[in-house]
Amino acid sequence: MKNITVIGSGTMGNGIAHAFAQCDYKVNLVDISEAALQKALATITKNLDRQVQKGTITEDAKNATLKNITTYTDIVAGAKNADLVVEAASENVDIKLKIFKQLDEVCSPTTILASNTSSISITQIAAVTKRADKVIGMHFMNPVPIMKLVEIIRGYSTSDEVTETIMKMSKNLNKVPVEVNDFPGFVANKILMPMINEAIITLQEGVAGVEEIDTVMKLGMAHPMGPLQLADFIGLDVCLNILRVLQEGFGNQKYAPSPLLVNMVTAGHLGVKSGKGFYDYSSGTKELVLAERFKKKVAELA
Ligand code: NAD
Repeated sequence: MKNITVIGSGTMGNGIAHAFAQCDYKVNLVDISEAALQKALATITKNLDRQVQKGTITEDAKNATLKNITTYTDIVAGAKNADLVVEAASENVDIKLKIFKQLDEVCSPTTILASNTSSISITQIAAVTKRADKVIGMHFMNPVPIMKLVEIIRGYSTSDEVTETIMKMSKNLNKVPVEVNDFPGFVANKILMPMINEAIITLQEGVAGVEEIDTVMKLGMAHPMGPLQLADFIGLDVCLNILRVLQEGFGNQKYAPSPLLVNMVTAGHLGVKSGKGFYDYSSGTKELVLAERFKKKVAELA
């Protein structure tokens, strides 16, 4: 496997393209938006520059990595020669099903089709193709060039052979692949999202404030980031969507999203990407600043 096509060049797509290109795979990066492709190339260049400054790669390696990436706005041209496609387009079922139908028609019958989806069923995606045995989940973590884990999700029909190939390939990318079955949230989000939701419920109940909750989890549980800061980083809208997938998929109210989370998303407070969530990112400093409405003292919360 040499030719990799990455569909979607947003937050995850540019990182996935970077990781493959750095390991000397030829990467076709596809997006419907030329502006998104240009932004992705600028981000990859900036991240490679940082690696050069740190001394983890040479200038030559940086240039070779960039040379391995070609951009396309046309999915047919970008995917027709792929040995493996990794889809990282927007998290929307209709968009993904349309892309996989198209890939199934365009790609060689031997091409493996992977999705980086956080919450959509791999089995459902595979069902719109005629190669369900060759459809698999490759759930990279953000930021991709740094994070070691890849959840490898076996759909109901994914073959042993395809799973083994993708496990091996992930190791070639210097990642640590973990094989999991296709159930809502897989492993990462089935465990992470209820924890984030519980932190928001704890805040909503007035048990403690934002900083207190995050400090308990950081210092008490050795988490590098508190759950509320992490929720801001992931995007509160993304957290809400995944909780709804878990609630519906398992038919269990224990995944019901906190009303405070629903209110924040409805009000457009989505975390880092909107400038405001549990913390306020508008000052642009690295130091965390509490959002105005969460500045109350613990005694005033209950
Ligand atoms: P994003 O919004 O940053 O990027 C999505 C990109 O897909 C955009 O550039 C958009 O133009 C493009 N796109 C939309 N429709 C397309 C199409 N038909 N063809 C080609 N490109 C198309 O999203 P993201 O955060 O990078 O997420 C991408 C995927 O990765 C989602 O499935 C998400 O669930 C998953 N994921 C995200 C994270 C994260 O932390 N952001 C982590 C793990 C997995």
